[in-house]
Order: sequence, then structure tokens, then C-alpha cells
Amino acid sequence: MGKHKPNYFKEYARKNKDRLRRYQRDAKRKRLSEGKCVHCSQERMPNSNSFCKKHWFINVSGSRLGCYTLKGGLFLEQLFKSQEGKCFYTGWEITPGINAELDHTLATNTHPQHKNTKDNVQWVHSYVNKMKRDIPVETFFSVCEAITAKLKKPGLTGT
Ligand SMILES: [Zn+2]
Repeated sequence: MGKHKPNYFKEYARKNKDRLRRYQRDAKRKRLSEGKCVHCSQERMPNSNSFCKKHWFINVSGSRLGCYTLKGGLFLEQLFKSQEGKCFYTGWEITPGINAELDHTLATNTHPQHKNTKDNVQWVHSYVNKMKRDIPVETFFSVCEAITAKLKKPGLTGT
């Protein structure tokens, strides 16, 4: 026996790149056609076209925190649980795959250094995420207060 035991799988994979790619693609298609997650054999979430719950969280972690890992996914799932499945700002119930989105408290445009900071994210309703965008959080609150105050004044709707 030599020091370097050949890695037969790696060797096989190198020699059969196209075949493996085809195999993986077909397996993916098969899983999707059976209502399963694109990445594993778990059932898809009822409101997702691609993912089981675990892979949905991993996918958000990848796209929003730059961390495409199980660890990142588990962190976000835990954060969701710690918020009791409610929007950080409105307290409304939110649902993964429907209206749960990950907000960066300090917007990524203005604070790119905090794009992947775990302390800088929270789960919010998609409406809030659309409204807030890259507005500083204090300004966002002022806007919400101004809207609420104006709505309370008579005359807005002509009544
Ligand atoms: Zn999955």
C-alpha cells in the first residue's frame, strides 16, 4: 500500500463528468416531479416551487447573508422561531415562501460592510421590506408615524 490511497470516487467523477451531470439533472427533475425538494428527498413546502423548509432557509441565507450553508439556514430558522414567526416591525404573522422576507436593519446599499452580519438581519413581512428598502431605520419610523398621524386627521378621505 502506498501513502496515497487512490480516491476511486474522485477518479470516477473526473472521468465521467458529463454522465454525472446528466444523472444529477435527471434526479433533480424526478424529485421536482414528485413534489420533493430540488436538493433532497424531503417534501417541498406547500408554498414553494423548489424547496423543503430546510433548504428554503439555506437558500435565503445564501442570497441574503452570503452564507450558502446548513449552519446559515439553521441560524435563520432559529431567528424565525425566536421572532415567533412574526414580522419584527408589524408583529404580523409571516409565512416562509409566502410573505416572510429577511430585512437588513442597516441597508446593504448604505452599509455594505454589514451585508453578511447576522446581528443586522430580521424577519419581516414582505410589505415592510418593500417599503423600507434602503431608508435608514429612524427615517422609516418617521415616515410610518407621519402616515399614521395624517390618516387620523379628518378630511383625508373626504369625510
Ligand atoms: Zn431539501
